[in-house]
Amino acid sequence: MEKEAGKMIQSCPTTQAQSQLAEAVLRESGQNVNLCYQCRKCAAGCPISYVMDYKPAQLIHAIRLGMDDLVLNSKTVWLCASCETCTTRCPQEVDVAKVMDAVKITALRRGVKPAIPQVASFYNAALANIKKCGRMYELGMIVGFKLRTFEFFKDVGLGMKMFRKGKLRMVPSLGGALTTLRIFRRVKNVEKKNRNA
Ligand code: SF4
Ligand code: SF4
Repeated sequence: MEKEAGKMIQSCPTTQAQSQLAEAVLRESGQNVNLCYQCRKCAAGCPISYVMDYKPAQLIHAIRLGMDDLVLNSKTVWLCASCETCTTRCPQEVDVAKVMDAVKITALRRGVKPAIPQVASFYNAALANIKKCGRMYELGMIVGFKLRTFEFFKDVGLGMKMFRKGKLRMVPSLGGALTTLRIFRRVKNVEKKNRNA
């Protein structure tokens, strides 16, 4: 799979100095992917790379080449665990984890369906939960996730185990809910301003 992806990327005919996708990533994350010199240290350290369709270094290269379809439809960005190992290893100080986030945002803005919808559902359930409760309320988040994915019986055993060990609270603690709501509102306003700029 890695060899195939490498060949595909090397054979891309696009030779623009700065691809539109690279510009979008720069706008969203402040990261200049053109600094990358393909040392692949990011890929070598990534704990998830063995399941990714394109390794982090390949994805960065594909962004530079303007291979929008490949990048925006890749599973890589949705599998990324945001552990930042790549970010700390990059000799060019490219924050690869931020690039992954920027690609996800760009894909959603352009109406591209997430390559792994369950991950997007998890993010949405977690954010909705934090917005309502002020912090993560695990049981509520799980219910929100199940309602989004319709995978009602998956991981039931694990859930029961957590419940027995007291890891899942029945009632959320709502301390800080107002402050969190204000933060969400502020972010929304900033996004609105950026969209209109
Ligand atoms: S942040 Fe994502 S891409 Fe980077 S090392 Fe972690 S999982 Fe891999
Ligand atoms: S570690 Fe940095 S310079 Fe090396 S391939 Fe990854 S992004 Fe590029």
